[in-house]
Amino acid sequence: MGKIIAIANQKGGVGKTTTAVNLAASLAATKRKVLLIDLDPQGNATMASGVDKYKVHATCYELLIEEQSVEEVVIKETSGLYHLISANTDVTAAEIKLMEVYAREQRLKKALAPVKNYYDFIIIDCPPSLNMLTVNAMTAADSVLVPMQCEYYALEGLTALMDTITKLTSVVNDDLHIEGILRTMYDPRNRLANDVSEQLKRHFGDKVYRSVIPRNVRLAEAPSFGSPVMYYDKSSTGAKAYLALAGEVLRKNDLTKKAQQPTSSVT
Ligand code: ADP
Ligand code: MG
Repeated sequence: MGKIIAIANQKGGVGKTTTAVNLAASLAATKRKVLLIDLDPQGNATMASGVDKYKVHATCYELLIEEQSVEEVVIKETSGLYHLISANTDVTAAEIKLMEVYAREQRLKKALAPVKNYYDFIIIDCPPSLNMLTVNAMTAADSVLVPMQCEYYALEGLTALMDTITKLTSVVNDDLHIEGILRTMYDPRNRLANDVSEQLKRHFGDKVYRSVIPRNVRLAEAPSFGSPVMYYDKSSTGAKAYLALAGEVLRKNDLTKKAQQPTSSVT
């Protein structure tokens, strides 16, 4: 069964889009069927996938507001072997219009139901706020992957996000859990980063991925070439780090699947 992972952190510039695009590409490179959903009106994940956000036939606006199907809005030609549902400024209107519709937080979940089992992974790139689009993502998702920079205020922001997830769990999505916390733009020579990283591990234990994404200029350059980093510079530390993350995500999910399988009865 497919797994839906929302990439969320209400803070901007922490590496959500970079993680969404490069995790999607890395999982797709392991022959998994992957759908990437750009839910941010800035459309950065769309552009980074080699798709011109101004020339798309449909975005998640059509999916969420006009109730077009995934088949109608999906873009299959991307630079990363994954399928894409795009975003551009039209999606700003979706956020406002969602406030007026019935079961407004359920729209994305409903739209994804017919394809959930077709894809192995559906990755959602959330906007940098806890708005109705993000609530839709978290209602549809099985889990939330939280990218964060190891800075002074990062833990405070993380606590706010965890509170929101806990509240949503009790209201709209009982099963929502933390997929993992990812340290991004990491510089091991920075003492503060190391301190925050230690605190994070003490607090969240094995929810913190062992894979760490280093600061790497190739990761920042790749989007302007409309490409995931692995197809822009496959030997870069950024490309290797996201491949390692994909491996960790796959291993963790295999373990959970095995743990959920009923043990055969002894006769
Ligand atoms: P968000 O989606 O959370 O706003 P982005 O993924 O867009 O964050 O990242 C913010 C900026 O930092 C972008 O310009 C991106 O290219 C750059 N960036 C992200 N991760 C890295 C990294 N590991 N090394 C260097 N630059 C990065
Ligand atoms: Mg972003």
